[in-house]
Amino acid sequence: MAARVQDGVMQSPVRALPLVTLHLTDRCNSRCVACDYWRNGERDVSLESVARLLPDLARLGTGTVLISGGEPLLHREWVEIAALLRQEGLRLWLVTSGLSLKKHAVRVARLFESVTVSLDGTDPPMYGAVRGIDAFDVVCDGIRAVASAGVAAGVRVTVQRANFAALPDFVDLARTLHARQVSFLAADLANPHAFGRRAGFAADVALRPDDLPLFAATLDALERDHAADFHSGFIEESPRKMRRLLAYYTAVCGLGDYPSVRCNAPEFSAVIGADGRISPCFFIAGPEQPAAAQTSLPAALDEAAMIDLRRDIRAGRRPECRTCVCSLWRDVDERRDLGTRSPPSAASWGVA
Ligand code: SF4
Ligand code: SF4
Repeated sequence: MAARVQDGVMQSPVRALPLVTLHLTDRCNSRCVACDYWRNGERDVSLESVARLLPDLARLGTGTVLISGGEPLLHREWVEIAALLRQEGLRLWLVTSGLSLKKHAVRVARLFESVTVSLDGTDPPMYGAVRGIDAFDVVCDGIRAVASAGVAAGVRVTVQRANFAALPDFVDLARTLHARQVSFLAADLANPHAFGRRAGFAADVALRPDDLPLFAATLDALERDHAADFHSGFIEESPRKMRRLLAYYTAVCGLGDYPSVRCNAPEFSAVIGADGRISPCFFIAGPEQPAAAQTSLPAALDEAAMIDLRRDIRAGRRPECRTCVCSLWRDVDERRDLGTRSPPSAASWGVA
């Protein structure tokens, strides 16, 4: 499709897509209070549909595929799918609940260059309150196991009322588990469609006005006592970015403005759902379209409705962006890195 002009802005087709997020399934065996995938998920991608994607990924210069879900390790053929992508030289990043990580640690370490595990509690009761299941020790074992197998995982904490006072403890726990890094983001409370939601969002996970002073003091303590962890990057966010969490929950309480968002994710990445739907990011559904099986990825990205959607995002016209907890800005060099492939490998991936 040729470039076109609308509202005085050149609307260009996507020429490169260095990062693709692929949801292997929208099923999940966690029971997180802030997510409905486990209630509503029922679809898996097929190995064949992933195989059909490969020429498109090559054409679009994709170098990195983030494998997510739902819980991707529930997919019956996750090993075959990951191996197929690896054989093309694509670098794989797994985002998992970690429930079966111990069992699959060796294969995960062979197939994935990067692993991120969600860990929302520092002990079994806190974990259970957020994730809805009694699996704290199982997930910790998985993080240790994958580190022993050669890939130190990143630990991802969704900060909410049940765990906000424990931020320093999460840093200590991540170190104990031999994690590579720990990162914190706020719970998405505003988007009625993300996380498999069909009937809006009702979970009571937000901080309340009375919590805000303690959260501010917790952030003070984190900065003071873990300065070296910020400096080394073991805590992924900067102290300034951590303060955005406080600003976000202050806004959720109606006591301030949402922190400003800078995001160009739809300019260099896309999300392919378990149903084949292609979206500009996790939080904004793409236009109704034939599944990826019936159309090419470049064609879906460059159809008029998708170009209009990207234009609205770029112009700040999407309400999802104003309250987004996971905005992403990548400069040219970072995008180039994401688009770099590893040498293809013919290793045998199926061996446990
Ligand atoms: S947040 Fe993730 S782990 Fe929790 S139920 Fe949803 S998909 Fe599963
Ligand atoms: S700010 Fe959030 S909702 Fe908006 S495009 Fe970026 S990731 Fe999507």
